[in-house]
Amino acid sequence: MFKAGFVSIFGRPNAGKSTLLNALMGEKLAIVSPKVQTTRHRIKAFLTGENYQIVLSDTPGIIEPKYKLHERMMQSVKSSLEDADLAIFLVDLRDDLEQQNQIFESLKIKAPGLVVLNKIDGLSAQKLETAISFFSQKAYAKKWVAISALKRENLDELLMAILEFIPEGHPFYEGDDLSDLPTKFFVGEMIREKIYLLYEDEIPYHAAVLVNEFKEKTGLIKIGADIIVQRETQKGIILGQGGKMIRQLGTEARKDIEAFLGSKIFLELFVKVRPHWRDNDIHLKEYGYHGA
Ligand code: GDP
Ligand code: MG
Repeated sequence: MFKAGFVSIFGRPNAGKSTLLNALMGEKLAIVSPKVQTTRHRIKAFLTGENYQIVLSDTPGIIEPKYKLHERMMQSVKSSLEDADLAIFLVDLRDDLEQQNQIFESLKIKAPGLVVLNKIDGLSAQKLETAISFFSQKAYAKKWVAISALKRENLDELLMAILEFIPEGHPFYEGDDLSDLPTKFFVGEMIREKIYLLYEDEIPYHAAVLVNEFKEKTGLIKIGADIIVQRETQKGIILGQGGKMIRQLGTEARKDIEAFLGSKIFLELFVKVRPHWRDNDIHLKEYGYHGA
């Protein structure tokens, strides 16, 4: 018997959705940072075993939209609501439980819900007990599992629980691709992750990355990318004194990209200023924010 289905991961910003997707996949597909709103797209990953295929979707954290960029992010949350066989409601055990509950209720998901209590590492048994009794009374919670996505604890138990909700069927995707997104997308995301890790204040939220060159040459891949910001002053911050910061950004991104592609790369970064790109339909589309 083969099982195949769609599973979407929902939760507040920073609950650990991207960390969980990567932990289940055993591969870093979704970028992670301690800052909120790191994930801007729905990222679909194919978790294929001997007798199952789970199409996992990581989604942006649920927020009140303030810009068109946020609206696109929330549209991508909605699109993963619609085709899910199972919704994972990822709970951050260190965050307010009631606020998280309100988000899960507001989603009005038809699919059954699996409450996954994350970040059990270093947490008191008492706190876990409180969360279990709180969520097990909720109508959307068909089952619960407690895990640490970061420390990869209880992931086998989680996988077993997920499979209980997956219908019999044929695989949706053949071959050994891990995702339906192009390599270029992941390269851009790895650069964006370093922006989240290296820069403070509004910089990460005002930046987009567009990979516009990806050429395989002998023994090396040449990659060219634009970093888009909203203001001239932000461009200066991205570059840093004498270009110091952008060199560090380039070095750190290159390491991850080389590990991901299994090849040496030559990475060229340019910084461009596009005022108000987060509210501009044409720019949003150009940078890949379709809301799907
Ligand atoms: P997302 O916004 O829901 O995608 O959250 P991320 O996956 O980007 O994670 C947000 C932060 O929470 C990062 O700093 C992660 O390292 C951290 N995190 C995720 N899972 C765990 C966990 O199980 N335990 C702990 N202690 N931290 C975690
Ligand atoms: Mg994320």
